[in-house]
Amino acid sequence: MESDANVTRIAVIGAGPAGFYATDALLKGLGDRASVDLIERLPTPYGLVRFGVAPDHQKIKSVTRLYDRTLADPRVRYLGNVELGRDLSLDDLRRHYHAVVLAVGSPTDRRLGIPGEDLPGSMSATEFVAWYNSHPDFQDLAVPLDAKTAVVIGVGNVAIDVTRVLAKTVAELGETDIADHALERLRGSTVEDIVIVGRRGPAEAKFTTKELRELGELANADIFVREDELDVGEASLAAIAGDVNATKNLEVLRDFARQRPEGKPRRVHIRFLLSPLALRGDERVRSVVFGKNRLEGRPGGGLAAVATGETEELNAELVFRSVGYQGTPLAGVPFDERSGVVPNDAGRVLEVRGGAQVPGLYAAGWIKRGPSGVIGTNKACAMETVASLLADDLPTPSEPSPEAVDALLAARGARPFTAADWARLDALETAAGASAGRPRVKLVAVDEMLATVR
Ligand SMILES: Cc1cc2nc3c(=O)[nH]c(=O)nc-3n(C[C@H](O)[C@H](O)[C@H](O)COP(=O)(O)OP(=O)(O)OC[C@H]3O[C@@H](n4cnc5c(N)ncnc54)[C@H](O)[C@@H]3O)c2cc1C
Repeated sequence: MESDANVTRIAVIGAGPAGFYATDALLKGLGDRASVDLIERLPTPYGLVRFGVAPDHQKIKSVTRLYDRTLADPRVRYLGNVELGRDLSLDDLRRHYHAVVLAVGSPTDRRLGIPGEDLPGSMSATEFVAWYNSHPDFQDLAVPLDAKTAVVIGVGNVAIDVTRVLAKTVAELGETDIADHALERLRGSTVEDIVIVGRRGPAEAKFTTKELRELGELANADIFVREDELDVGEASLAAIAGDVNATKNLEVLRDFARQRPEGKPRRVHIRFLLSPLALRGDERVRSVVFGKNRLEGRPGGGLAAVATGETEELNAELVFRSVGYQGTPLAGVPFDERSGVVPNDAGRVLEVRGGAQVPGLYAAGWIKRGPSGVIGTNKACAMETVASLLADDLPTPSEPSPEAVDALLAARGARPFTAADWARLDALETAAGASAGRPRVKLVAVDEMLATVR
């Protein structure tokens, strides 16, 4: 690193994929002048790669090896267990850094806005996923698995992840890094039927074909798709012409409809053209009332689900809404409530959508563009943001030294988790996993993580 006067101090907030790709792009762009603090509210890095990606999809998690190279770079400091809004404010960051890149993701979920949504047994896929992936904030989630039928509302890959976790055996899941508390509860699961439900038709489903196909290959569950619901109209076919994923999805769904059940212990059903209208129940959810839809062309293009007036009630004691993740506002940071993102232009944060630039403030990843795309999508997204940052005249902070940040955090009583701390925890988790034939056994509670490495 160069002498202090020539160094550009950047705070990247959030150590998920976008935070890592932004850090990497800053190192490449600034070279010896780079000095990046990667600030993460949890002790552990990697964001949704640790707490979102399904435990039975370990290969996807190997992307963290690249992130570890970034963590090992001497121009980068990892400050885990430090939260913007709790331990540091935006004004603090402005005092200590030339620029701030927000890469905080989309931590909450979209709601259905229908009666009964808050009955016990009804929850978001976001919470359930965080629970089975050992997210410290969700370890106490009540998941009443003494249910016969679970309904998963939404037709994207997260709905498929949730379905696989409910459908697989404890023996299968026991080979993964699923949370021990989740494995224990899933051992007592009485779920037999899992019904995935989409508002529109099979051609409009957001699944990726690889993930969809996996549902037909489950050792513990048969797959059921209704032939009559695959009868997509001309308009849908025209809309997906040239869309390889949607066309292949239809082929796979047709295969599923032809598949003969083998009498496996569990059953996965995929249903279409149903909008949830209400959840009914007493001390817990008992059923979901759906309105049946048909598809109609919209004047500006695209297809809308239009209610036919008919309804269908499905008995279910567990309901997961999986209709999208959503960003939340950060104190002092502009936020667009309608789209659930930080308003920005190529990553430059704007005061309001289409408004003036906020100097020195940038966004990358899901908080910049909304919750879509795969892990790799965040790379191009972060590179665009960093290109904007490097092209701008950055404000001059009053105290740009790393020591000043350390002193501030110490004064606030924060206990930063360093890259060395994480390396120790990582080694302990993987060693615990190795002796149990698993990729790792995750620690869950933040206090336990801090105590274990110190
Ligand atoms: C259930 C699920 C499964 C997925 N599976 C796959 C898959 O199999 N393959 C694939 O390619 N993609 C998958 N994705 C998508 C992928 O995870 C995302 O594209 C990616 O994680 C988004 O990156 P991000 O950095 O914007 O957000 P995140 O990964 O959410 O990272 C944001 C980070 O910011 C931290 N943070 C939040 N607020 C603060 C704060 N105030 N101060 C400090 N830190 C903060 C968070 O703790 C988190 O670590 C999946 C997503 C989900 C939800």
